[in-house]
Amino acid sequence: LVTLENVDKHFGELHVLRGINLAVERGEVVVVIGPSGSGKSTLCRTINRLETIDSGVITIDGVPLPEEGRGLARLRSDVGMVFQSFNLFAHKTVLQNVTIGPIKVRKKGKADAEKRALELLDRVGIANQANKYPAQLSGGQQQRVAIARALAMEPKVLMFDEPTSALDPEMVQEVLDVMTSLASEGMTMIVVTHEMGFARRAANRVVFMADGEIVEQASPDDFFDNPSSQRAKDFLSKIL
Ligand code: ATP
Ligand code: MG
Repeated sequence: LVTLENVDKHFGELHVLRGINLAVERGEVVVVIGPSGSGKSTLCRTINRLETIDSGVITIDGVPLPEEGRGLARLRSDVGMVFQSFNLFAHKTVLQNVTIGPIKVRKKGKADAEKRALELLDRVGIANQANKYPAQLSGGQQQRVAIARALAMEPKVLMFDEPTSALDPEMVQEVLDVMTSLASEGMTMIVVTHEMGFARRAANRVVFMADGEIVEQASPDDFFDNPSSQRAKDFLSKIL
């Protein structure tokens, strides 16, 4: 569903992505881990074209990423993104946050969009907060709104960049639970996270990045119990 072939990316002198090859199948959950600065966020951002690449090819559903214009809006709705910092619209209600994309980009009718939004808010466990503003919600609730908002666009793949890193510890699990249930329902997901418990339970595959390269990839059990590279061993010994 998502493929990257020989993707390279520099920021000036800094070579942040080095010959990345990755293929994510439909329904697969890929967890990306690695040290700070290894290029995980950049990788996510290239997939929905928030960052350009220097060379290589990225395809979604067999179609290379569009350069610009209308194709780009379409791509952004096919590739949902959930960030560490929620990025909700502060002056819109929860319901409006979830309906704005489908109404503006997908050209859905308001009533339709609201009906669907309420279903999605129910699915992430916060339908009763629909008329509140983001600031009136906890961090965990805000992040669940962000997930509902991404789902409202009916994305083909959902990317998460450290979705629980900004949350108080007691709110991490409620967000991971939503992600786990999406995973079990067959959503294609690429997840950058430090939550190794989630990686073990929900991932089909773990991709370990260091210095802009994919150093190894394996099933969670193989990776955590028996990492093959020294860099992965060093990384795991620091975080586990
Ligand atoms: P973290 O775990 O800290 O989030 P990461 O693996 O997500 O790290 P990236 O954010 O992808 O790492 O950054 C990779 C490298 O690229 C880092 O050295 C970072 O400083 C650099 N970088 C990221 N974005 C930019 C930018 N817009 N301009 C210049 N350098 C950047
Ligand atoms: Mg990052």
